[in-house]
Amino acid sequence: MRQPLVAGNWKMNGSKADAADLLNSIKAGAANIHKAEIAVCPPFPYLYKMEELLAGTGIRWGSQDVSRETNGAFTGQVSAVMLKDFGCTYAIIGHSERRMFNAETDAIVAKKYEQALASDLTPILCVGESLEEREHGRTEEVVARHLDAVLEGLGAEAIGRGVIAYEPVWAIGTGVTATPEQAQEVHAFLRQRIRAKSQPQADAVRILYGGSMKPVNAMELIGQADIDGGLIGGAALKASDFLAICAAAEANA
Ligand code: PEP
Repeated sequence: MRQPLVAGNWKMNGSKADAADLLNSIKAGAANIHKAEIAVCPPFPYLYKMEELLAGTGIRWGSQDVSRETNGAFTGQVSAVMLKDFGCTYAIIGHSERRMFNAETDAIVAKKYEQALASDLTPILCVGESLEEREHGRTEEVVARHLDAVLEGLGAEAIGRGVIAYEPVWAIGTGVTATPEQAQEVHAFLRQRIRAKSQPQADAVRILYGGSMKPVNAMELIGQADIDGGLIGGAALKASDFLAICAAAEANA
């Protein structure tokens, strides 16, 4: 049985005070969550607060990106070693906004994934197709390419050490959610592709859904056989919504 994970991707939102408020509310509500795992991924500058604010809770934290380099003259980048030093458990890798706005290729994403693993961070590998790709029947081709950058490049064991997030680009921040059937179909496809390399890794790896997941649709999505939780954007900024999604994960644990 895979432990459901609900991870909040705060993106570039909030302030120091907002981060503290949000975390305190999540902390209070999370006292009822025992079986599902909760994580928050704030902007880099707020990571230093996590250790202080989340000490003694089971809530984990992570980054929204990581450098593909180890250290040195890479202005503006943050290494996996540094993230580990700040207590991160997770690092989101290859989010579609980074692929889009920072020209991250599959090769770059694979290097970042490797850096995360080398520092004992758990990468959350984002995969997902655009609306145009879906409309042209290319969903499986695109998510397979995103997955294979790691599965073929680093191996099934590397995939097993991470988490996958299926995030259809057309559902991110749009309010349009994939139906549970649409999402389940892609999750099953991804798991099957991993199974072709390694049955144990396929059975163990958690595949999250991300894309306008909200309290109203979380239960049905997370209730699908191959959906093991959510990567949450907008709804992660409102404690009551985020906690309601965590409760749906708890009910499915
Ligand atoms: C995301 O960006 O990872 C995401 C899932 O965003 P939203 O929930 O706002 O669609």
